[in-house]
Amino acid sequence: MISDNLDKIYEKLANKDQLVVVSKYRSVEEILEAHNSGHRVFGENRVQALLERRSALPEDIKWHMIGHLQRNKVKQIAPFVEMIHSVESERLMKEINKEALKNDRIIPILLQVHIADEETKFGLSEDELSHLLEGEVFSQCENIRICGLMGMATNTSDKAKVKSEFNSLKTLFDKLKDKYFAGDNSFSELSMGMSGDYEDALDCGSTLIRVGSLVFNDH
Ligand SMILES: *Cc1c(COP(=O)(O)O)cnc(C)c1O
Repeated sequence: MISDNLDKIYEKLANKDQLVVVSKYRSVEEILEAHNSGHRVFGENRVQALLERRSALPEDIKWHMIGHLQRNKVKQIAPFVEMIHSVESERLMKEINKEALKNDRIIPILLQVHIADEETKFGLSEDELSHLLEGEVFSQCENIRICGLMGMATNTSDKAKVKSEFNSLKTLFDKLKDKYFAGDNSFSELSMGMSGDYEDALDCGSTLIRVGSLVFNDH
């Protein structure tokens, strides 16, 4: 049962909204079941799917964009998106800022950091992050709020490796917070952990977990 799966995860959290239920590939009925059991925060990795689900589901859902985002699609989600986890370039940041301004809102974003061993995972390096946070674009983007970092660990059964990647992301988070966001309480979120590794991620300081299969599958 979806509600039992949710309850097991909630037990590990201070607050239900720390769980972004990843609804990609799930039917509207399945998502509604999670909604009916009281969950409100959902994430999608594709704009098209996000828009389709949003129009078919209750309006009180807070939608997070967690996947790679193309600049030309930002305008479609800018009016309502709760948070964008996957920001990894200045150009994307600028585009989000532009669309946020048009919609007269401030969009919360996370900067995606490359922590895995795999070439295929997106994200910024530490040098690129510093460059971005010291750059003009960042200082000019008044309609985005940088709320923290997001990362995806290597897809491996080697738990020690995954934990060390989470730990290094937490260390980087603390370092950037001190250096660029001291006194700015909005830089407070660390989005890391999925079905297979969310408990380790929480141990390492995650504040937002993105969990799909563990919520929807029968165990
Ligand atoms: C699919 C996905 C998840 C959730 O994966 P599960 O293993 O099903 O929990 C988390 N984050 C991102 C970016 C994803 O694309």
